[in-house]
Amino acid sequence: MTGESIRAVHDDDLDAVLDRLGLGRHLRAGELKCKICGAIVTRETLQALFPDSGTIKVLCNNVSCMKELIRGREG
Ligand SMILES: [Zn+2]
Repeated sequence: MTGESIRAVHDDDLDAVLDRLGLGRHLRAGELKCKICGAIVTRETLQALFPDSGTIKVLCNNVSCMKELIRGREG
């Protein structure tokens, strides 16, 4: 594992990134949940991807979730 930072997602390459990570079909199926708040993450609410315990987790676009994630990584 490398110290990969949180990746901001842009619409242009979102589908390609998700498919490469094997998450695209899960996102389209409504199966991805925010690591912090547990809300279903859709293409519209997907804010970031980040590695966690060998898998890729997603973060919704709730500002408090981003703050919580950053706080957890620093603490
Ligand atoms: Zn969230």
